[in-house]
Amino acid sequence: MNDKNMIDEIIKIKEEKNIKILAHNYQNYEIQQIADYVGDYLELIEVSKNVDCKTIISCGVRSLAQTLKTVSNKNIVMPVSEAVCPMNKKINIEELTNFKNMHPQFTIVSSINSQVELKAISDICVPTSKAVDIIEKLDSENILFASDMNLGNYISKKVENKNVISWTSYCTIHDRVTKEEIINMREKHPDRPIIVHTQCREDVIELADYAGSTSQIIEYVKSLKDKKVIIGTETGILHVLRRLNPDKKFELLSPTLICMNMKKTSLEDVYKCIAKEDGEVIEIDENIRLKALNSIDNMMKYL
Ligand code: SF4
Repeated sequence: MNDKNMIDEIIKIKEEKNIKILAHNYQNYEIQQIADYVGDYLELIEVSKNVDCKTIISCGVRSLAQTLKTVSNKNIVMPVSEAVCPMNKKINIEELTNFKNMHPQFTIVSSINSQVELKAISDICVPTSKAVDIIEKLDSENILFASDMNLGNYISKKVENKNVISWTSYCTIHDRVTKEEIINMREKHPDRPIIVHTQCREDVIELADYAGSTSQIIEYVKSLKDKKVIIGTETGILHVLRRLNPDKKFELLSPTLICMNMKKTSLEDVYKCIAKEDGEVIEIDENIRLKALNSIDNMMKYL
């Protein structure tokens, strides 16, 4: 079956079976095309809670599917079980639990894109875009931030009067970007703004014109008068930026900005998931789900 026929079939079957497809901003272009909603974790959380459907197909990595299951408790299916964020894999939950037990003065704050087990032992979750604001408002003076140590480092520089330490894990994609790549790009295109993600390293963020979360980057780019912009985050965001800014041209800061786990889901995988029901139904122990939900609910109070 060619792609055009597959897309037609997916659209037909998802309507017949009352299925909605939710896709992360970093998904392949063809997945974004067939998705009912494309967004970041926070946006997709809201959709999953409110959308009226029998099943949600979650196109992203496992932690996204777990997050949607946690908040909506609907039937959540992921097409490719092996799509797992490497940053999440680096975190040893047992070690972090031991730290928590030995240091009760620390509030455990986790990224919204963390795995459900980490959310379950956290006091509160934060989206990247609001991490600084929320942590500043917490009563606790001592914060342990997991999962991205580059973002944790960025937060520690921005918040005042708090002791923010980071667990040693990082986004392998954003951490790869080097300051030399910014310097070279600046020499090549001195007139173009360079925008990076706050999961990049400190020396990269310092040399960029702007650093933010995915949603902050989208908003910032909309406000720019410049017609040519350099983007230093995962390549999938270019599809969203081009759709929202047809008058602007975008270039990726580094060819390494591709998350292979976010790209594991193909059109064929979604087709099989919908037509043959061979995706993975997300199951979470109810005790863990409720604890993780509590961390997300604590976050929602600040939004
Ligand atoms: S882009 Fe980074 S944080 Fe997102 S799934 Fe890939 S490795 Fe994980």
